[in-house]
Amino acid sequence: MDHDAIVIGAGPAGLFAATEIAKRGFHVRVLEEHERVGEPDHCAGLLSRSGLARLGLRMPEGIIQNTVSGARIYSPSGNSVTIERGEREACVIDRRRFDAWLADRAIDLGVDVTTNVKATGFTREGSLVRTIRLKDKNELRSRCFIVAEGSRCRLSGSVGLPTVEKSSMYPAFQYEVSGADLEGDMVEMFYGRNVAPGFFAWIIPLGENRARVGLAARNKSRTRLDALIVHHKILARRLEGAKIDRSLGGIVLVGMPIAKLTHQNVLAVGDTAGIVKATTGGGVILGGITARIAGKTVAEALSQDAKVASIKQYEKQCKSMVFNELRAMYLTQRALSSLSDKGLDSIIKDAAVLGLLDVVKSDGDMDLQGKVIKRLVTDPRMILMGLRAIRYINPFL
Ligand SMILES: Cc1cc2nc3c(=O)[nH]c(=O)nc-3n(C[C@H](O)[C@H](O)[C@H](O)COP(=O)(O)OP(=O)(O)OC[C@H]3O[C@@H](n4cnc5c(N)ncnc54)[C@H](O)[C@@H]3O)c2cc1C
Repeated sequence: MDHDAIVIGAGPAGLFAATEIAKRGFHVRVLEEHERVGEPDHCAGLLSRSGLARLGLRMPEGIIQNTVSGARIYSPSGNSVTIERGEREACVIDRRRFDAWLADRAIDLGVDVTTNVKATGFTREGSLVRTIRLKDKNELRSRCFIVAEGSRCRLSGSVGLPTVEKSSMYPAFQYEVSGADLEGDMVEMFYGRNVAPGFFAWIIPLGENRARVGLAARNKSRTRLDALIVHHKILARRLEGAKIDRSLGGIVLVGMPIAKLTHQNVLAVGDTAGIVKATTGGGVILGGITARIAGKTVAEALSQDAKVASIKQYEKQCKSMVFNELRAMYLTQRALSSLSDKGLDSIIKDAAVLGLLDVVKSDGDMDLQGKVIKRLVTDPRMILMGLRAIRYINPFL
């Protein structure tokens, strides 16, 4: 065999997985179709400090662009609630630099990162996959494969792994602007059926009146964002006179992870596995944590002759570690997107009046949201809020 493991995709999930394998002395290669790791980027760059600590990351200067202390959430009619935790809770990072730094770190630990190579398919020998075919007609052989191709799921689907449901892939669009009139160091989130059906629009401050302004929704994300910048009461005010410096598009995942994370000697990680918080579309931290588990599991399996039974441990561990959290976030997202604008107004108003934000402030965790969701749904005030909002559930969804 040419390699112990081949990872397809040099996003964070692929790089975290590969690093764990190389650290344990195995020969691992990461294939990336683009010329440079991290480009083109598709991210707002908001990562919790606790998540970065869980990943054990200490980033060099230049990657963190700003820090934020909380979020202001706007209902469709413009009422807002503020969730501030009195500390710099999250970082805003430059994803291009972040991914490039993760790649350098991986290379230092012995990973071969090859850019400008597109993987096009797998070839089996018996029940196991042994070869990956490349666009330039070359082939590479390996004992195990990790698919980290992002939300596209082309290769994972071709090899017998389930793929993320199309209905949970929402188009997203984002501008980076300068000269905006921003409010302090808060992230701002805008909900509403006329704003972003199924999801939300956001402003993430980058410091010095610069910001990322984006939107994901069931459809027409760019058209909707362009309209908001002109017509939305708050967004238009913030962006009046601002200059658009760059733009990007991508896919935000709002569903559940795929049901099966391994198939024989092939594993799916990160967005390919649908390991993303459905409430926010954030996938770097939990995707990274679980990809590290994938890397460790593969290394362990490689030391036992790449036993398929050992590779399956990845799925078992992920399920017990994050699947309940992801399910709670998914159900919350579903509940929120089933509400009409009046329903969203009602819960945002009630959340402030009934004191439910204190629960979020004390128990909230940007990544592992399951605990706070569980506390909220068992709180009698929440039941009252739910009963008030229930009449606003959209009967057509
Ligand atoms: C607009 C937007 C904003 C977001 N904001 C946030 C945020 O603030 N915080 C957060 O945590 N998450 C955010 N996300 C989600 C986050 O970007 C993803 O969860 C994350 O990038 C997933 O990492 P990954 O490594 O699984 O996949 P990716 O980062 O998508 O990496 C996949 C890599 O595989 C490569 N590749 C694909 N196919 C092949 C092939 N056949 N051969 C070789 N290479 C291949 C791609 O080029 C790419 O480099 C956002 C997403 C969008 C769209």
